[in-house]
Amino acid sequence: MIALSRLQQLGKQHGTPLFVIDHDELRKNYRQFRRYLPRVQVYYAVKANPDPEIVRTLYKEGASFDVASMPEFMIVHENIKKLPAKKRQDWIWDKIIYANPTKPVDTLEKLNKYKPLVTFDNSEEIRKIKKHAPNAGLALRLKVPNTGAMVELSSKFGASPGEAVDLILEADKLGLTVEGISFHVGSQTTNFENYVQSLSLTAAIFKEAQDRGYRKMNLIDIGGGFPAPYDSSVKPFRELAAVINKEIDRLFPKDIQILAEPGRFMVASAGYAVSSVIGKAVRDGKPCYYINDGVYHTYSGVIFDHCKYPIKAFKKGSTQLSSVFGPTCDALDVVSMAENLPDLERDDLVYSVNIGAYSHASATYFNGFPPAKVVHVNR
Ligand SMILES: *Cc1c(COP(=O)(O)O)cnc(C)c1O
Repeated sequence: MIALSRLQQLGKQHGTPLFVIDHDELRKNYRQFRRYLPRVQVYYAVKANPDPEIVRTLYKEGASFDVASMPEFMIVHENIKKLPAKKRQDWIWDKIIYANPTKPVDTLEKLNKYKPLVTFDNSEEIRKIKKHAPNAGLALRLKVPNTGAMVELSSKFGASPGEAVDLILEADKLGLTVEGISFHVGSQTTNFENYVQSLSLTAAIFKEAQDRGYRKMNLIDIGGGFPAPYDSSVKPFRELAAVINKEIDRLFPKDIQILAEPGRFMVASAGYAVSSVIGKAVRDGKPCYYINDGVYHTYSGVIFDHCKYPIKAFKKGSTQLSSVFGPTCDALDVVSMAENLPDLERDDLVYSVNIGAYSHASATYFNGFPPAKVVHVNR
C-alpha cells in the first residue's frame, strides 16, 4: 500500500480528481497469483482496467491477456508488440484470448488474421466464426453456478452442461477445433465451492466428449472471479488457491493447459482515488460533502459493479456520520450516505483505497465532468 502521506502529496501535486495506480502492487498481485497457482497462466482481464501502462507492467511480469472487444485487443497487441517477446508464434493464444462469447461479424473478420483463440456458447456463434474467422481456435464457455458472487454472469453467458458436447461436435463437424472449456464463476466470488463445482462439470464434459469420439481438447480456462481483499471477510487467496489446486490435480492430466482470467484480483488493490471537497451543507442535521469525483466517474463501480468504497479523510479529528455526493447535477450521484468523517472544509482532500477495478474503466464525461487524471507510481 502507498503511504498516506505520499497519496496526499500526489493529490496536492497533480490536483484532483486523481486516480493513482501503484505498479508495485500490480506486480505483487501477479506474483502472488502465480505463486499459489503455479499451474495456471494469468490472462489479465483488460476490462477491469485497460490502462496501457498496466498492460505493459503485467506483460513484463509474464502475464497474458483476456480481451472482450476489438479496441481492447488492439490495446494489448500494440503495447506488447514493442516489448521483447519471450517466444514468437504465428498464433497469439499464448498472449491473448478473446473471451467475449458473442462477437460482431466485423470483429471476427479483423481477428481472423491473428489466428485468435475465441470463446463461444451457441450454434449461431459457431456459424459466424466458421464464416468470418475460420482461422480461430475455439473454447466453449460453460454456464456454471455463480452462487454468492458479487456480480452474477451466468444468466447472460454459457452453454448449459447438457448441450456442451453437442456444440463441441457441431463445431468439429464444420472443421473448427474446440481447444477446451472456459467458465466464469461470477465476479468477487467468496464462495469457493463455485470453482469446485465448475471444475467437476468441466471434467465431466471432457469425459463425455472423449466418449463421443472428440479428443482434441487440451485447455481449461477457469475464468475470473478471484476476490479482491476489500475487507477482512474475504478469505486469503492462498486458501482459494489450495482448493483449486487440489481439484485440478485430482480431475485433470498433468499436461493440460490451464488459464485464468483475473481482472479485479490484479488491479483492485492497485488503484486509489483522491478527490477534494468542493462544497458542504447540513441536511436533516447530517453533514453532506460534495466532492469532485462521483458515480459517473471513478466511483462508477458503486452503480455498475455493486461495490462500496469507504471514503476517508486525511484530516484527523472526531467523526460524524456524513453523506458524500458527487459533483454532477444528478440525484443518482451519491457516493455514500453513511461515512464517518471529521469536520471537513472546502479543498480538504479525501480518498478511497481498493478502487482499481471497474472504476476508472467505466468513468464517463457526463455533465461535462471529465474522468480523473491518472498517475502511475512505483514505490
Ligand atoms: C470480466 C471478465 C473477467 C474478469 O473477471 P474478474 O471477476 O474481474 O476477475 C474474466 N473473464 C471474462 C470472460 C470476463 O468477462
